[in-house]
Amino acid sequence: MIKPQPIRVLDPTTASRIAAGEVVDRPASVVKELVENSLDAGAHTIRIEVASGGKKLIRVADDGCGIPPHQVAVAFARHATSKLATAADLDKVATLGFRGEALAAIAAVARVTILTRPGDSATGARLRVDAGDIHDVEPAGAPPGTVLTVEDLFRKLPARQKFLASDAAEARRVTEIVGRYALAHPECAFTLVRGGRRSFASPGTGDLKDAAAAVFGRDVADELLPVASPHGPIAVDGLTSPPHLHRATRKHIALFVNRRWIRDQALAFAVVQAYHTFLPKGRFPLAVILIQIPAGEVDVNVHPAKTEVRFRDPRAVFAAAQAAVRRTVVGGAPVAPLGEGLGPGAAPWAGQGRPPDRGVPRPGARGRRPPGGQWTGAADATIAEGSGGGPYGDTEGRIPPLRPLGQVAATYIVAEGPDGIYIVDQHAAHERVLFDRLVARAEDPPVQGLLEPLAVETAPAGMAAFEAHAQDLVAAGFDLEAFGPTTLLLRAVPDVLVGGDPAAALVEVLDDLAEGASPVARAVDRRIAAVVCKRGSVKAGQSLSTEEMRALLRDLEATAAPRTCPHGRSTVIALSRQ
Ligand code: ADP
Ligand code: MG
Repeated sequence: MIKPQPIRVLDPTTASRIAAGEVVDRPASVVKELVENSLDAGAHTIRIEVASGGKKLIRVADDGCGIPPHQVAVAFARHATSKLATAADLDKVATLGFRGEALAAIAAVARVTILTRPGDSATGARLRVDAGDIHDVEPAGAPPGTVLTVEDLFRKLPARQKFLASDAAEARRVTEIVGRYALAHPECAFTLVRGGRRSFASPGTGDLKDAAAAVFGRDVADELLPVASPHGPIAVDGLTSPPHLHRATRKHIALFVNRRWIRDQALAFAVVQAYHTFLPKGRFPLAVILIQIPAGEVDVNVHPAKTEVRFRDPRAVFAAAQAAVRRTVVGGAPVAPLGEGLGPGAAPWAGQGRPPDRGVPRPGARGRRPPGGQWTGAADATIAEGSGGGPYGDTEGRIPPLRPLGQVAATYIVAEGPDGIYIVDQHAAHERVLFDRLVARAEDPPVQGLLEPLAVETAPAGMAAFEAHAQDLVAAGFDLEAFGPTTLLLRAVPDVLVGGDPAAALVEVLDDLAEGASPVARAVDRRIAAVVCKRGSVKAGQSLSTEEMRALLRDLEATAAPRTCPHGRSTVIALSRQ
């Protein structure tokens, strides 16, 4: 039998540490709260700095409204907020914060220094709070805005510390959070400095595409399709992937309600469902979905971290999001069932193709005709009639000899084949050609020395990937060596990268290896090759001469799997004569 123990009211220090545990459980949650405060303060630029994944130092500097000196101390009291006045305000929260807990919670478990000045105040104020011990407010010079510095998080809570992951893993979570806020607030310029190095920057142009480019990379962002359903009580906005661009997990679906990032399985499911029949099984879209609804329609006070919300009418919200995404996906898809799709390729058709960013392609000089390449001319219908092979030619997975007719939107090559018209995605096709060439010459890759060695900055995870795969990288044609804790010196690159951006390609290769490095050397080769090809190939938006088109088609025909690029995208769609 258990004997009843006396019940006591906990002392304030213990109580505040318990409460803090709900709000801050790791560096990323501190960053989240501080960034929310900066946004609520109307900041246009927010600079976040972390050291040791945020365990040693987190600093968030903004150019927001600041705090008047006489209010600085009270900001650290529990349930002290400028964002609510009465309980009734809770029903229509329009700010990211409202619980008045974050500063108190963070100051209970770390050493916090605030330096702040409202724009119209002559002097600023500095205040230190050390694990709950509050010092005096001192006058201090400061730029307008607020700088919050958090040091030695959980130093006095070893149990908490033990649950933190490695510095690199914590830093990754911080990066994720910053990226989410950059997407939700494209009008604000975010900079993240990790271990002294700028690792993320969004331009703050107000254009979601620009923020998405900072988060996902320009290549991916350029392919995303706009979601826009701005009317009605539930407005849906954002970007979503075309059907050919997909990921292995749902993780790349970012959901926001009234510019607050939220977790919502059901809503994510609704977005995935919008792709019904458009995506291969087990693949998921990449999406940024921004929902605006009247504040009274959503309860944000469900969870201390405010990452879960409750909708008054969840079905209406899911339906609105799904309909908006579906419209985008369907609208961006090919107009007729054209067999294996190029995907919508909507962005290039709409004239958004990128301007050429490197010289002309150098299609192989092999110049041999593909087997059976007896294609004679435009009017020759007899080949198609009897072949029975359908528009793709008679061998499954291959393409027949094609004659280029011209280029559309500097992105697609339109060609004639034995049984109709073929539309070839020049970028995907060239990727396939380069990939096959690289893999075929894996023993002795063509390498191009750089005129001057190039110092390439990489993340710690990238350095680790370099160390683990140095030999594979050399085998793929990179000549490089460590040149500092996060710097590599690049001396030579696989020749297909000449004219491109070899540093960016290397960083991407390392990221890719860091994310899912396979121990099988062959698989590593292929991963490297796939990135290299993506980087080195002809881009959408690049004009090609007839001779270049002809050479590219010829090279494509000769590859092992001409119908897909190394990332699985289709290279070609066919319209039969019928
Ligand atoms: P909440 O955000 O829920 O109000 P916090 O504990 O995060 O609670 O912050 C308390 C108060 O401190 C805020 O209501 C705000 O008035 C002020 N504050 C915090 N951070 C900033 C900042 N970066 N700029 C201006 N004021 C801030
Ligand atoms: Mg707050």
